[in-house]
Amino acid sequence: MTVADLFIDLRSDTVTRPTAGMREAMATAEVGDDVYGEDPTVNALEAEVAALFGHEAALFCPSGSMANQIALQLVVPPGAELLCDADAHVITYEMGAAAAYGGITSRTWPAVGAEIAPDVVAGMVRPDGYWTVPTRAIAVEQTHNRGGGGVIPLDTLRALREVADAAQAALHCDGARIWHAHVADGVPLAGYGALFDTLSVCLSKGLGAPVGSLVVGSAERIDRARAIRKRMGGGLRQAGILAAAGRYALAHHVDRLAEDHAKAARLAEAIAPFGVLAGVARTNLVPLDLTKASLDAPSLAAAARADGVLISVLGPRTARLVTHLDVTDDAVDQAATVLARVLRR
Ligand SMILES: *Cc1c(COP(=O)(O)O)cnc(C)c1O
Repeated sequence: MTVADLFIDLRSDTVTRPTAGMREAMATAEVGDDVYGEDPTVNALEAEVAALFGHEAALFCPSGSMANQIALQLVVPPGAELLCDADAHVITYEMGAAAAYGGITSRTWPAVGAEIAPDVVAGMVRPDGYWTVPTRAIAVEQTHNRGGGGVIPLDTLRALREVADAAQAALHCDGARIWHAHVADGVPLAGYGALFDTLSVCLSKGLGAPVGSLVVGSAERIDRARAIRKRMGGGLRQAGILAAAGRYALAHHVDRLAEDHAKAARLAEAIAPFGVLAGVARTNLVPLDLTKASLDAPSLAAAARADGVLISVLGPRTARLVTHLDVTDDAVDQAATVLARVLRR
């Protein structure tokens, strides 16, 4: 028995298991030693993802955190700074890697979901000079994880591109769920790609692959990225088995994200009457704010668990529901019933 057999798991979209079709693709993948650059399936995945975003090259990495941190090391030298929002994954959930491995300092603007005021970011850029910490990159998250799956509008990203250009800083996109933004707003992936110097994208979240993320950028940067990845212990050998899952996910699991968004909207609708929604569920995340509820986040999670539903606790009064490939429509209805029953108590 696994967790998936016992519970409806709404904690994260990382809990998906490879489908039969994906496992078949993995089992039959052509492979070689990727540290020698000889894995044809990895090479094909990298070329495919680079092309999707309109960039020259991409690099397969074991995790999104590694992909982000490699990208940051590419664009921010030690002792220089990164600007991002206070809830950004790159500084919240990556164990201080930017500082620990890259010698990168970070300064943040206040996080308000996926809302960004480009003039505030512009005002934070430090002028160059030997007495200041130079701003070398600005990072944004699309969609925003702690921001409840919010989507940054294209106009905001264009304005940030101008801020970055004026500052001669790089613009990085933590695009772990950029596929969801693409599906929600109908912006082509290449449209996003054109605005960023570097991107990281995840295959192991909503797309349902078991492992894998990529750094996307220029050929020169990805060449350097390969060395950084090896230094960080991320050189993989017959990784084609994993890349095959990623290629399968790109072919079969992007457009269907609309179903996950619809499921999230249904969950949100079911619990809206209890006044616990922390925002609009635009993609596959449903953010909860339990400030006005009768129970706090750990109690809600425990009560839901007792009735077979797993949710994520983010703080004493904040929680999150996530829809994904492994949550059926029936399971969504069942979870909605359980959560409504618990919240009504
Ligand atoms: C999940 C996630 C990542 C990468 O996480 P890993 O667990 O290291 O693969 C990066 N950014 C965001 C916004 C994420 O949600």
